[in-house]
Amino acid sequence: ISHQEILDTLAYAEENKENRELLDAILAKAATFKGLNHREAAVLLECPLPEYKEKLFALAKEIKKAIYGDRIVLFAPLYLSNYCINGCVYCPYHSKNRDIKRKKLTQDQIREEVIALEAMGHKRIVIESGEDPLNNPLEYILESIKTIYGIKNKNGEIRRVNVNIAACSVEDYKKLHEAGIGTYTLFQATVDNYRLLKEAGIGTYILFQETYPKESYLQLHPTGPKHDYDYHTEAMDRAMQGGIDDVGIGVLYGLEHYKYDFVGLLMHAEHLEAVYGVGPHTISVPRICPADDIDVDDFSNAVPDDVFEKIVALIRVSTPYTGMIMSTRESQSMRERGLALGISQISGGSRTSVGGYKEEEKPEDNSAQFDRSDTRTLDEIVDWLLDLGYVPSFCTACYRAGRTGDRFMALAKSGQIHNCCQPNALMTLNEYIMDYGDEKTKAHGAKVIEQQLEN
Ligand code: SF4
Ligand code: SF4
Repeated sequence: ISHQEILDTLAYAEENKENRELLDAILAKAATFKGLNHREAAVLLECPLPEYKEKLFALAKEIKKAIYGDRIVLFAPLYLSNYCINGCVYCPYHSKNRDIKRKKLTQDQIREEVIALEAMGHKRIVIESGEDPLNNPLEYILESIKTIYGIKNKNGEIRRVNVNIAACSVEDYKKLHEAGIGTYTLFQATVDNYRLLKEAGIGTYILFQETYPKESYLQLHPTGPKHDYDYHTEAMDRAMQGGIDDVGIGVLYGLEHYKYDFVGLLMHAEHLEAVYGVGPHTISVPRICPADDIDVDDFSNAVPDDVFEKIVALIRVSTPYTGMIMSTRESQSMRERGLALGISQISGGSRTSVGGYKEEEKPEDNSAQFDRSDTRTLDEIVDWLLDLGYVPSFCTACYRAGRTGDRFMALAKSGQIHNCCQPNALMTLNEYIMDYGDEKTKAHGAKVIEQQLEN
């Protein structure tokens, strides 16, 4: 991540923001589905001309439809523990927050949470835990994974447990793999650790940069292991050097100025593609939102909706073959707009507190990482997606079939991934409506499946 190149790019974008000849050429390149580089994307981001925004949005919709079809993959987070030794100033789990209720689920409580998630119809979850070797040691995570996989309630089962935990030792990673997890979201790890992870056959490794400008990063992460900017920023290189071919990146929009972070993110993606031959598998687009001890007004860089939409559309046209994830941080209407412009995966029926699925927390017991904007149930979200013309999907096939890295990218770039996603989406939707849909969703889903099969 070259600070000077980012500054030069922003100056170039400012200079050319109304250069119609250049803007037309950039859009023409994007229309070939080959993506855009960070300079080209930055010019479009800076461009104030309404007709170019319209063209950009139309193109993002076209690319989204052509590559991903109608399917939208659904998942849910499961918070195990909010003990954390890091000092991230934007997260209520930071170690100095004495107001938040610290909680850690027992195995019996995890069982109850998973039964509640399975009863909703979820098949894919990501377990979340703060970084705290004392309270959340790896043994605890491993035991929890085993517990989760072991729970088959009626027709319910969790088929993929993805994990968001701190870096561990080589031996720890081996143990994680043996426990059968899919996606790792780790903060830091060594090349050797990554190599072992790869040999162990993991799916996607996700790591959010949070923000790219170094000075701000250091201020936003004042204490704890995450304070080390270089080690954090180079984590994906070590992952790739260790042989992991599916990685997921993202920034937390609002921490810093979005233009810098947007260019930094695309440069990061370009770097991975150039050096390792595979760009990021997913890009997430979280925006800072309210939480205990966190007031969004303290973050003067908060990104307004219209700019945020433009960022989503620009990531879509710049990296056409990268999945895009939007969480319940965003409202129903923003998620609707995001889905049209490029989002391919969303969470549904989520609880962002520790132990929130079995029963809603009382306000005085607050242990949530952030306040959800979209509080609808999973069934409401499924029905809403059907209404919008999408096929809600509970597919977990790629991880299980070993379609990762260049094998996934080859299918995506040739447009053939659709041939995997579409039947899997229809089958898992059918499974969902039979087992969990209410009468309305059942009828609605059956109709959509029939129409899709006819098409
Ligand atoms: Fe801990 Fe992660 Fe929150 Fe930072 S963002 S305080 S590492 S849980
Ligand atoms: Fe995702 Fe692969 Fe399933 Fe498509 S087939 S929805 S890319 S897991």
